[in-house]
Amino acid sequence: MTNDEVIKNTNYDLAIVGAGPAGLSAAIYASRGGLKTVVFEKALVGGQIVVTAEVENYPGFAETLTGFDIADKLKAHADKFGAEFKLEEVKAIGVEGLCKIIETDKGTYSTKSVIIATGAHPRKLQVPGEQKYTGRGVSYCATCDGALYRDKIVAVVGGGDSAIEEAIFLTKFAKKVYIIHRRDKLRAVKVIRDRVFKNKKVEYVWDSVVQGIDGGDMVETLHIYNRKLDEISDLKVDGVFIYIGIIPNNELVESRVELDPRGFIQTDEDMHTIIPGVFAAGDIIHKTLRQVVTANSDGATAAFSAEKWIEENSDKFD
Ligand code: NAP
Repeated sequence: MTNDEVIKNTNYDLAIVGAGPAGLSAAIYASRGGLKTVVFEKALVGGQIVVTAEVENYPGFAETLTGFDIADKLKAHADKFGAEFKLEEVKAIGVEGLCKIIETDKGTYSTKSVIIATGAHPRKLQVPGEQKYTGRGVSYCATCDGALYRDKIVAVVGGGDSAIEEAIFLTKFAKKVYIIHRRDKLRAVKVIRDRVFKNKKVEYVWDSVVQGIDGGDMVETLHIYNRKLDEISDLKVDGVFIYIGIIPNNELVESRVELDPRGFIQTDEDMHTIIPGVFAAGDIIHKTLRQVVTANSDGATAAFSAEKWIEENSDKFD
């Protein structure tokens, strides 16, 4: 990086890394508040929400929305207030005095403040066959791949909100959906549990973990270990959807901010990390409730706090 490159791209008040619901909400608030705002996204505007089939608890929308609908509306709203979007992968965030230097795969930018809204990615089972059959029967996205399993038999691994909601979604296509859970009680909230227990297409494989995934060209068999009975068995399926939690995408800052034991970023109530002018919002932070609406709220708070922080430090920026 040369100084010229940095100077060429100076002048942002705020760089937002990640265009999921948290980043998009931050972009709306910051650009409406008059901050010159740039949003970097490496893949898909909308983040994890775009691979969510149905969102039925987004306040104000009693009709079920798709994750894509929400992402689309948030992006249009941020566009309206003039946020700039760059489809670039952020590779590093440097700090020089109070300035932050963002290096992407396409350029180098300087900014006064940053909001990290990089979200999280699905945890892998890490069992034999998982990698080999990814895209050939192993999936982490029912919305993307569910329709391929019309009248087939699939399994969902996990007992949280994601696993159970997506299992219910898969019953629209599959003739049978096994839920394989390592305990005998679902973690998912009551409203989701009640719904799945009424669904006749769902069958439960309790107290069990998947030890391996096998097949020919495509997945055919799951090797299952029942922890209570200490028994191994095979389950014939056409596909397996893995929803066993999320891992924070914290690589850009992990050694410089405070993390909780699972790697989520600790912020104060203003979404400030321990780096002055660096905020975090959404699934990446330590919090109790991971929802679109809480990501919206984090993003709004982070943008407001960034604006306040820039104002307080205005004499230190030329
Ligand atoms: P989660 O709540 O962490 O649930 C993960 C599930 O996977 C748990 O049932 C866990 O079992 C199981 N598990 C974890 N590691 C495993 C392993 N190695 N082998 C087998 N099973 C394993 O994750 P999530 O469902 O992805 O949800 C993430 C967050 O998003 C949560 O805060 C959730 O509330 C939120 N969310 C909300 C909604 C909604 O409100 N509509 C929808 C989706 C997600 P144990 O139960 O035994 O720990």
